[in-house]
Amino acid sequence: MNWKKLAAAAMAVFLCAGCSGTPEQVQEHPQGGEEEKHEATTFAMDTIMMFTVYSKDGEEILIDAEQEIRRLEHLLSVTMEDSEIHELNHKAGEKEVHISEETMELLSLGKSIGKETNGCFNIAISPVVKAWGFTEEEKHVPEQEEIDRLLPLADTDDILLDKENGTAFLQKEGMAIDLGGIAKGYTADKVAELLRAEGITSGYFSLGGNLMGIGQKPDGSAWKAAVGNPLDAKDYVGMLEFSDCAVVTSGGYQRYFEEDGKRYHHIIDPATGYPAENELLAVAVVCENATRADALSTALFVMGLDDAAAFWQKHNDFEVIFITNDEVIATEGLRDSFTFEGRNNDFTFRIMERK
Ligand code: AMP
Ligand code: MG
Repeated sequence: MNWKKLAAAAMAVFLCAGCSGTPEQVQEHPQGGEEEKHEATTFAMDTIMMFTVYSKDGEEILIDAEQEIRRLEHLLSVTMEDSEIHELNHKAGEKEVHISEETMELLSLGKSIGKETNGCFNIAISPVVKAWGFTEEEKHVPEQEEIDRLLPLADTDDILLDKENGTAFLQKEGMAIDLGGIAKGYTADKVAELLRAEGITSGYFSLGGNLMGIGQKPDGSAWKAAVGNPLDAKDYVGMLEFSDCAVVTSGGYQRYFEEDGKRYHHIIDPATGYPAENELLAVAVVCENATRADALSTALFVMGLDDAAAFWQKHNDFEVIFITNDEVIATEGLRDSFTFEGRNNDFTFRIMERK
């Protein structure tokens, strides 16, 4: 699909923080360089992507950004038959395959974030995700016997990366990589790098809810996003201001199905092979690095509130908004940038302090 240019004179645009349809109005500043504002939207990596940049060369720069996304999709997609990941999965248990430096970098990062999060983030979880039908859109609860058989295939130690020779090998037949929890973040970092290299100092984009803000708005204020209410797609629980960083949300409300009255979502706890079940409904991670924000939002959601809070206490490079059934909790670093909105819902709010 080609860029569809949106009306440049639009008075407001919508930004969505990983929520299904919760809009936020970003008011345009009158001296905001309207004539230099360029917007575009496209569909790639199975999701809608929206861009706004301020530059007289914005139109050409956004075409370059789209090409960059297509290029990365051809490396990282699980479903595209000519992607490097597809080939790697196809040759599992059989043969190593040559991969690009970028695919190597992302696989290596995926493995290391897996270790760092005690296996909660797992790029080898694909066979289990497939068993739940999330890839074929034939969603169903698999037999326990099937989960027991597939879980041993989700061991990231069996992903062998040979950086010197530029090859990767999945040791066991039936193994497969799924970069669904990290690829959009990686793409966001690459696109931001390209936009900055082409001179963009003010812009933002959303890759299916993975938000990235470059610099600030032309009037010098921060970008703003609504953090969606996982219990009500039309509501939001607060507003987040951000600049020069990514905001990535993971939640069980984003993709799910119901069977026998129970809801099953798409984020799998690698310890059980079942959708992660804990008090968290959603997690938003704010981090300069979008790849890390993406992987961590998935991992923290799997961990549950206590382990995720302990993980945050040990790290200084990201902040989090946790949403449970009845609470919205923002970590200390977001004290001045997150504004809780509880008018239409029953959430209470608190700040999580550093110990
Ligand atoms: P996200 O929306 O970034 O939280 O990623 C969710 C997607 O990542 C799912 O649709 C799966 O493709 C994949 N996934 C599911 N569970 C995990 C997990 N525990 N670790 C890494 N990726 C996962
Ligand atoms: Mg993720």
